Amino acid sequence: MVDVDVVVVGAGFAGLYLLHRLRGAGFSAKVFETGDDVGGTWYWNRYPGARCDVESLDYSYTFDPAFDAEWEWSEKYAPQPEILRYLQHVADKLDLRRDIKFSTRVDSAVWDEASSRWRLRTGQGNEVSCGYYVMATGCLSMPKALDIDGVERFGGDVYFTSKWPHEGVDFTGKRVGVIGTGSSAIQSIPIIAEQAAALTVFQRTPNFSIPAYNGPVPAGKKAAIASRRAEYRADARLSPGGVPATISEVGAMQVSEAERIARYEAAWQKGGIIEFLGTFNDLIANAESNETLCEFVRSKIRAVVDDPATAEVLCPSSFPIGTKRLCVDTNYYQTYNRPHVRLVDLRKHPLATITETGVDVVGESFDFDAIVFATGFDAMTGAIVAVDITGRNGLTLKDKWSEGPKTYLGLTIAGFPNLFTITGPGSPSVLSNMVVSIEQHVNWIVGCLEDMRRDGLAVIEPTETAEAGWVQHVNDFGDITLFPRANSWYMGANVPGKPRVFLPYVGGVGTYRTICDEVVARDYLGFAVAGSSGTRVNDGVIRPVQADVGIMLELIAGLGLPALETMSVDDARAFSTSMATQRPPGPDVGEIVDGVLPGAAGDLDYRLYRPASAGPHPIVVYFHGGGWVLGSHDSDDPFCRDLCVRSDAMIISVNYRHAPEARFPAAPDDGFAAVQWIAANAASLGGVPGKLAVAGWSAGANVAAVVCQLARDAGGPTITGQLLVTPVTDSDLSRRSYVDNADGYILTAPLMRWFWDHYADPSDRADPKASPLRATSLADLPPALIVTCEFDPLRDEGAAYADALAAAGVQVRHLPCRGQIHTSLTAVDAILSGAAARAEMGEALRQFLGASVPV
Ligand code: FAD
Ligand code: NAP
Repeated sequence: MVDVDVVVVGAGFAGLYLLHRLRGAGFSAKVFETGDDVGGTWYWNRYPGARCDVESLDYSYTFDPAFDAEWEWSEKYAPQPEILRYLQHVADKLDLRRDIKFSTRVDSAVWDEASSRWRLRTGQGNEVSCGYYVMATGCLSMPKALDIDGVERFGGDVYFTSKWPHEGVDFTGKRVGVIGTGSSAIQSIPIIAEQAAALTVFQRTPNFSIPAYNGPVPAGKKAAIASRRAEYRADARLSPGGVPATISEVGAMQVSEAERIARYEAAWQKGGIIEFLGTFNDLIANAESNETLCEFVRSKIRAVVDDPATAEVLCPSSFPIGTKRLCVDTNYYQTYNRPHVRLVDLRKHPLATITETGVDVVGESFDFDAIVFATGFDAMTGAIVAVDITGRNGLTLKDKWSEGPKTYLGLTIAGFPNLFTITGPGSPSVLSNMVVSIEQHVNWIVGCLEDMRRDGLAVIEPTETAEAGWVQHVNDFGDITLFPRANSWYMGANVPGKPRVFLPYVGGVGTYRTICDEVVARDYLGFAVAGSSGTRVNDGVIRPVQADVGIMLELIAGLGLPALETMSVDDARAFSTSMATQRPPGPDVGEIVDGVLPGAAGDLDYRLYRPASAGPHPIVVYFHGGGWVLGSHDSDDPFCRDLCVRSDAMIISVNYRHAPEARFPAAPDDGFAAVQWIAANAASLGGVPGKLAVAGWSAGANVAAVVCQLARDAGGPTITGQLLVTPVTDSDLSRRSYVDNADGYILTAPLMRWFWDHYADPSDRADPKASPLRATSLADLPPALIVTCEFDPLRDEGAAYADALAAAGVQVRHLPCRGQIHTSLTAVDAILSGAAARAEMGEALRQFLGASVPV
């Protein structure tokens, strides 16, 4: 039996580099590869036109500058034979072949608890024992099992793009059918059409494709990389897609249509998937923005394809652009102008069967000499579960992943110690320049093995908590994009019966690398390790906040801003006003009117948001956040717009006097006076008398809660509901959430103390007008929706108020928001993960206001 430190399965970009690094680090290693040579993807996919769609200067190893210097790519996007030669060259130069066993397929792997080692078996009968087992088996290496009947009957030649004959195929004079219109088909169809006597393409779903403008390697780019190689490669490693690229900072709908089209046109003329999809910053998140790019590409298809009916069939409409891999082509659409090329729309004429002589679709039969299947892969998980992998306690990976893959970082799997997956599900992998992602994973794994050896450890495995947290994070990220809307292989949707789960990590290569490095820096957070000195579990979740909240926190941390509580009140106000100008504006409403109403001690400004629908409308009196010290109509303007649209109610945002100029109880006194006046003047404001709710955020929610108590005690006006978003309900600053979330989530415990100090004397703070939780009775208050956020110092007092209201018999719903922070729910259009909670708020307001109450 072969006995080594590490077994690697696969000899593509990943396996080759891993073998090199393992040797350098002094580990014994053996690679097993089904093919009879190195190359992986570039060994198998030899169909005509196969080439990379990331420029070759980027799609190559970066670990050794010598390869850059000695290897000349002949084209911007090198063809498959050249990429294969490159990998063969790397294998030769690093003398890798002597540790690779070719033509050998790993069939099974079993974790042996007693020896803490993996035992592998190959199809050729080899038995291998290893301490660590690495799957470098590729994301696109397992062809999808054919789900079309009758192939075995066909008397002509059958080809699969994913397993193309090494000797090549000559289609000259042949009648050829191609099934599929993904990247492989789109690359091969123009070349097959050049040879074939007749070509018929069977298309189920049209794809978006942009021109490659292939040709010689751009000299300018080559020189630019050579002159600043280290910085260029470092930029790639920290970029979203593994290629340095400029991503716009504006959304598509924030510019005029003319400017939008001009930018698309410039990007189209330039080419490049990442740059094209980065023309605006919201193309993968905002459906309206995305559709403008879809339509732009459709206009290009219509301009190229002569026959309008064929052009329409080629125009994708069933998924947002970018949510399936964008294709890169040379003369793909132009090929349909050739007289001997025909497109068959399988949506209209479904594929019935393959026959002895060709293909039957509903309503027509086709005869062919050859059929090419470009039908894709069982991506990301297929090659991994094709090996029978059994971890601890007899658990098989197939069973564990039966409802979709679960990994920690896309690298490791709970229950499967010492197993690593390179570019596994849950890592950026297929959404990136894969060579950069492969190198990062290889380096991380080798670093981990070196750390284990240094510390005398032999076994490493992620905890269930860490893994579940990562799966959640990956899903959360996917959910704020448009990716889940496509029936793509990213979603597992191309393989019948495969669970529908978004497989890659969409957070980007740079973000992901930072996370992996942080795991190490925090002493392998989320891992249990064991060695001769015992077992150590460092349990935890690496990114517990919502994905977009995490990005916002990182951006803010990167700005190095001073803490608000270290500023003077004037500076803090000026600062928060300037921050407010930099966020998205929120949705359009029917009308916005500014006005003045009488407060408790003088006039107060208000801003009225009227829905676009026909009035009169029910009314929500809204109080802005800002710790009684900061804030205005402007600060909460996007949130008020959002509430107005979602609730179809008139939102009247009322200003109230601020501390320290007007301390407690100025704010609730003004709030109550405003509600009294608005209730009395509902009709003249365009409202429905008697249909009035209150809402507020943070200190504004404190005002709203107190106003409800004051109205109850005064016998009116009638308030039909209260929406309290992350409310201040108590002056006790010692609750658990104050401790857990004291720092790092924008609203800090010191800042809250600063607010309280400006607002109320310690002797006043227990007054229910300051701390509504302390009211002697909470009975007979309006129905409430109380929204709290997981990473907010105010979380527990909000929950306590919900509990207390319920105990007092008030109809109350508590909406705890996982992964959110104090300021994230009101960040309309900036924090997309808050949209679901805002939808519930809108729905709650509708319900509060639906029931008519006697005036
Ligand atoms: P692979 O290259 O897939 O190698 C995995 C190897 O593992 C295979 O050789 C396979 O035979 C072997 N193997 C699997 N299971 C077993 C087993 N049980 N026992 C033994 N051996 C096994 N990505 C980009 O970033 N840019 C591009 O331009 C690009 N173009 C692509 C074009 C095509 C046609 C395809 C199919 C993919 C493309 N990709 C591209 C993705 C591409 O797969 C990766 O870039 C990269 O080549 C993957 O390298 P790898 O070593 O991880 O896996
Ligand atoms: P793919 O994108 O999954 O495309 C498969 C095609 O086959 C789709 O058009 C699909 O239609 C069709 N199909 C599958 N089963 C079918 C059936 N039963 N009946 C009719 N049609 C069927 O696969 P791929 O083209 O091989 O590409 C896979 C990935 O590899 C790419 O997304 C890319 O990441 C990589 N790749 C890159 C390049 C490059 O340019 N460098 C080239 C090739 C591949 P539906 O969409 O309707 O399912």
